Amino acid sequence: MTSIASLLVALALAQTSTAPYVRSRVDAGDPRTQCLFWTAERVTWHQSTYGNPATPGETEFEAMSRAFQSWQDIFAACGNLTLQEGPRVNDRTVGYARQGGNRNLVLFRDRDCSAVVDSTDACWAEDTCANTYDCWEDNDNTIAITLTTYDERSGIIYDSDISFNAARFDFTTTSGGGTCFPPVTNNCVATDVQNTATHEIGHFVGLDHTNAVGSTMNPSAQPGELSKRTIDSGSRDFVCTVYRQGAPSQACLHPVVESELGPQADTGCAAAGSLAALPALAAWALWLSRRRRQEGVR
Ligand SMILES: [Zn+2]
Repeated sequence: MTSIASLLVALALAQTSTAPYVRSRVDAGDPRTQCLFWTAERVTWHQSTYGNPATPGETEFEAMSRAFQSWQDIFAACGNLTLQEGPRVNDRTVGYARQGGNRNLVLFRDRDCSAVVDSTDACWAEDTCANTYDCWEDNDNTIAITLTTYDERSGIIYDSDISFNAARFDFTTTSGGGTCFPPVTNNCVATDVQNTATHEIGHFVGLDHTNAVGSTMNPSAQPGELSKRTIDSGSRDFVCTVYRQGAPSQACLHPVVESELGPQADTGCAAAGSLAALPALAAWALWLSRRRRQEGVR
């Protein structure tokens, strides 16, 4: 089993297509490898009850729900799966729980691992600090990360989790008041939760980045940005095509061998993923790039 993390960083690293939409693949950008997609009819996701204490009231929870709902509206119109919000949970662990109890989790990490974990801790080499110490382990300049676990032969997704870098970024939920820079107040836009989440949910359902003008899946974001809240026509086409209503979800390579489908077909796995982060004051443009982790793949 394999997992990938998609993230937003402050440096432009990867060449990105301008196609209306680009599907995530086992090897990013390699058409010889399978695309990633859900086959479940219903995918339940959960918000961690901790929320983001720096965001007023319940607004971060509400913003997250709106972001998922904007995708669900499209799935309801032309797709074959349902994105359903489950009850909030105390879970702070991302990745695929193979032994049961797996959840698709959305959470904010508001402590930087480098500040709370000793530099000699083995978790650094194992990429396990985030779960072990409930902290942000990825790059400072990453706003959020979506960690997706899938079968690398079939491309079928088993789990996807979204982590927000609240250790570094000031997440806001209002749409008015203009762009604000630290110190952030409650009535301006710094890093918008819904804007960020809508992009990350695109990764959650199997989209990679595109430089198509106006796409929710553009690999860059600006402080104060709200435009990704509105899902573009290309991303909508992805839903209506890949998850076409009344049809099976579409793989990219055929045939997908039925006997290879499902988690039971795999041994050993790990998963992790995420979105972007805001850079230092010097660089305000944000770019998304992808990162792939592979562990325990036989
Ligand atoms: Zn991204």
